[in-house]
Amino acid sequence: MARVHLSGIGKTYPDGTSAVTGLDLDIAEGEFLVLVGPSGCGKTTALRMVAGLEEISSGTLTIGDRVVNRTPARDRDVAMVFQSYALYPHLSVRDNIAFGLQLRKLPKREIKQRVEDAAETLGLTEHLDRRPRNLSGGQRQRVAMGRAIVRQPQAFLMDEPLSNLDAKLRVQMRAEISRLQRDLAVTTVYVTHDQVEAMTLGDRVAVLKKGVLQQVAPPQELYDHPANLFVAGFIGSPAMNLLQGRLEADGSAARVELGGQSLAVPAALMAERPRLREYLGREVALGIRPEDMEDAELGTGDQDTLLTSTTDLVEALGPELLVHFQLPAPPVVTEDTKELARDAGAEGIDAAAPYSDVIARFSPRSRTG
Ligand code: ATP
Repeated sequence: MARVHLSGIGKTYPDGTSAVTGLDLDIAEGEFLVLVGPSGCGKTTALRMVAGLEEISSGTLTIGDRVVNRTPARDRDVAMVFQSYALYPHLSVRDNIAFGLQLRKLPKREIKQRVEDAAETLGLTEHLDRRPRNLSGGQRQRVAMGRAIVRQPQAFLMDEPLSNLDAKLRVQMRAEISRLQRDLAVTTVYVTHDQVEAMTLGDRVAVLKKGVLQQVAPPQELYDHPANLFVAGFIGSPAMNLLQGRLEADGSAARVELGGQSLAVPAALMAERPRLREYLGREVALGIRPEDMEDAELGTGDQDTLLTSTTDLVEALGPELLVHFQLPAPPVVTEDTKELARDAGAEGIDAAAPYSDVIARFSPRSRTG
């Protein structure tokens, strides 16, 4: 395994499309880094540049202690797992897994041993003599993983490897990839547009937007301290509610005015975040996670944190209810003033989010109450 270091990496396609700009990422030995972002944000392009499948337009790419900008893919000692699995239909599972090793002309006995070890790890032993078309989607995905594992590469590069699987299998394979990577401890760069995958798999998650890195941090830090509104809105499902309001002074405390309603920002928070004062009298974005809201009748009853609205839609997910409502306008309270105010302070600025479509999450306890 090796450190993978991207320094100022950029990609401009021949037609002038700038897909990635000035990307800096330092991926430690054995780290699982997830690249996440909406469709077209440049994550596949970034991964393909690391793999050597796409030419790098600018910057420096180092794998281990070698600069590999001009090194052909086959000499980079990285293994790529594709969304489409890219298996050879006419070859057995055994030969699919062995293919890369045969190309490298490893001794037959070693190839056999490595293939059988990988098959054992991946639960493929009884399928080794079958053809890919006779396997389920999940089994094919495991074969693709097997092909990467047997090469014992410096790094795994995975491009949306779970996106062709149904929802249940995806959850199962996600856990398998996580265990496998932990056991093998191989540096991994994993591309996905699914933020649940990003949050559950990554030691760190890098969020891209339009080819530009927005933030790279451990999942919980990304969730608790998003660097900007884009990250705040992208990470979390259902997404953070972003409301547009005006921050007004209220003695040493403040309030966020939201079209006839207002929420308190406590004095302690104003003191802790001196920068918030700069935004007094100005439009701000107020971010509230759905799980930080609760039914007024079950909450603390604190008038300072009461928002009144009309329930628009209720979605029952089993373990919880998602309640959609419009703001401004039946009682919904945010229980934890501190959390709320923290979110208010997290971004403060340049908000363009309209009101409405606010989502709150209620646990069964709230429901029975
Ligand atoms: P998705 O999740 O939809 O796969 P992505 O984040 O992986 O998207 P890329 O496939 O890297 O995004 O594409 C980034 C940008 O580069 C997009 O605007 C895309 O249209 C453009 N692009 C990709 N490949 C080429 C190409 N060969 N020539 C020109 N532009 C391209």
